[in-house]
Amino acid sequence: MVTIRPVDLKVQPAPYQIRYNVLQKVVKTLEKFEATSGNAGSRAMELEGNVARKSGSSQSYRFNSSVLLRDLIKTKGKLEEIEAPGVRAVNKRSGSRETMARSNAIKLLGKVLIEKSVLAANGYNTGAADLNSNPDRTLDLLTNSDHNYISCIRCNTKFDKLQILSPATCRFHVQRKRYNRETREGEYVCCGETTSSTSFLALGCKTMPHHVFRAETFEEMATISVFRDTSYIDGDHNVLALDCEMAFTSLGYEMIRLTIVDFFTSKIVFDSIVQPFGQVIDLNSEFSGVHAIEKSESMTFDKMLSQVLCKNMINANSVLIGHGMENDLNVLRLIHKKIIDTAILYPRGKFKSSLKDLAFEVVSKRIQNGEHDSSEDAIATMCVLKAKLGIPLHQTVWS
Ligand SMILES: [Zn+2]
Ligand SMILES: [Zn+2]
Repeated sequence: MVTIRPVDLKVQPAPYQIRYNVLQKVVKTLEKFEATSGNAGSRAMELEGNVARKSGSSQSYRFNSSVLLRDLIKTKGKLEEIEAPGVRAVNKRSGSRETMARSNAIKLLGKVLIEKSVLAANGYNTGAADLNSNPDRTLDLLTNSDHNYISCIRCNTKFDKLQILSPATCRFHVQRKRYNRETREGEYVCCGETTSSTSFLALGCKTMPHHVFRAETFEEMATISVFRDTSYIDGDHNVLALDCEMAFTSLGYEMIRLTIVDFFTSKIVFDSIVQPFGQVIDLNSEFSGVHAIEKSESMTFDKMLSQVLCKNMINANSVLIGHGMENDLNVLRLIHKKIIDTAILYPRGKFKSSLKDLAFEVVSKRIQNGEHDSSEDAIATMCVLKAKLGIPLHQTVWS
């Protein structure tokens, strides 16, 4: 009888206890499906060992082992179907030379269009309220001083929105907090400071001279620029993936780059830096990838809209694809009906999935390792959708 324990490796991708727990889960799963004739232990050690060997960090180990367990459950422990844990069966299909008719792809996409009520529940403006025709309310929002005191979304300090450009001290953590199972404490991903730390750095690892905010309601958003309903624009039945990068300005959270990619040709059909209405406070360069907004290399918001809202780009008939696209459409101030959102379609348990995880999981694409790139994100979103629906990934000519 072999002792069931993680195989020794020169470089351990994860602590022994974590590997041991994964191994036990693999054994239990194999036994549950009676997938092996009594040698579940050694088969589990082999499978877990493979995962550990190909994982370069504890994060990738966690990811790869969860994929292994998921695949085991999906195939009811039929090991021969899991030749490479972490590489989905769908990749085999999309990697082949087969092609699909455009009409078939459109049919498949039609089946995953998100319903209006679901869009509304996920923060999309579906045009339910008449947002642009309430001048009194808009005036109230602009002049009522109660609305001017808001909490900074980075450091939670209350501040006067109208004084946002006066110097302040905003201390915050760049990334979110996560729970560390080993230390049983909250830990900031950015700098490793813990919630119980008494160090000065626990208050935040970055300091900026201004607080920041983002408009919470469609009414507030409409005070900066009105929403436009695309149903009034006639045009081609096209399919487009889009992604925006945003920055903090004196007027809140605004779009600074827009990229639109054609679903069928994978060609970038629009990509431009866009000037925000407010004064820039933070370009979020480490995420947005935008380091400067030069007048000569950018366009105004209105010029951008006049170029993208048209017969052969975004119109009433367009199917728009994005990941968590409510953010993009809200900064674009667009109300659109035909939407496919991969964050809604492919959630992670009760949470929204991140595009980074989804792209890696579904199409083995590594994105957002450094700065975000809206063209890369738009393409990754499209690839995820194609792979999930069985639409050939690399087909660029359609009949
Ligand atoms: Zn930090
Ligand atoms: Zn702040």
